[in-house]
Amino acid sequence: MSSETFFQVCQFWAGIAILTFILLQFVKAPYGRHIKKGWGPEISNKWGWILMEAPSFFIILYFFVSSDQSSYASLLSLLWLIHYANRTFIFPVRIRTKGKKMPLVIVLSAVFFNLINAGLNGYFLAHFETYTTANYTSWNFLVGILLFFGGAWINQKSDTLLIGLRKPGEVGYKIPKGFLFNYISCPNHFGELIQWGGFALMALNCPATTFLLWTAANLIPRAMNHHKWYKKTFDEYPESRKAIIPGVL
Ligand code: NDP
Repeated sequence: MSSETFFQVCQFWAGIAILTFILLQFVKAPYGRHIKKGWGPEISNKWGWILMEAPSFFIILYFFVSSDQSSYASLLSLLWLIHYANRTFIFPVRIRTKGKKMPLVIVLSAVFFNLINAGLNGYFLAHFETYTTANYTSWNFLVGILLFFGGAWINQKSDTLLIGLRKPGEVGYKIPKGFLFNYISCPNHFGELIQWGGFALMALNCPATTFLLWTAANLIPRAMNHHKWYKKTFDEYPESRKAIIPGVL
């Protein structure tokens, strides 16, 4: 594929992310607390997570081992792999969702989304990257890597606090407290957004920016829906808490 065609595909895919963001203002992705009947066959929630996220891990791994990437591109691949090793193999084992299901259609749409996003990012890092060692001293690398690890830390800590709200075997919901939960309902989503913002800044390329758009398109509506759900479900839910951006949204 020529770089012009690649760039056009990338822009088209970014356009679909914006349409998805608009669609998700009207449709609640039916998994986790928002699951409901009528979305066709279901599979185990844990297996759903493994299947949804595996393409992101294996596609980047494939491009990483089969191409001759510069050290900077290799670093980007490794950061992606670390995140998706956790999301695919560790997170599904840790979550306490015994007996819970997820619609197969959600799994398949996430597989599609991950195939394209990982495919575009992997293809770019294998075929079009022109990074040099000078990139390591650029402002966007230094700020980007801080944001990547800062966001990953917020995401991990928040997911850990949420998972810990249930004792083994429990499946209900409680009001999360402490850490950034004092300011927003979904610091895990906030952290993930910051993390991929950092990645896009380090990479400064079309597919990484497009992936950030897709992450925002999925996570902002999901956090807004979680926030509304908390307020509807718990009378005592803290009034001052926002959904995903402290003090703002
Ligand atoms: P949630 O916050 O909905 O859930 C995380 C886990 O904690 C689930 O196991 C959930 O159980 C449990 N949980 C959440 N809130 C409570 C509560 N109040 N009481 C008890 N248990 C609770 O996260 P998501 O499912 O939306 O996402 C999971 C991870 O995946 C996050 O880190 C997110 O950032 C990431 N993600 C990334 C996307 C991307 O586009 N890059 C898209 C979607 C998610 P249950 O499932 O039963 O609700």
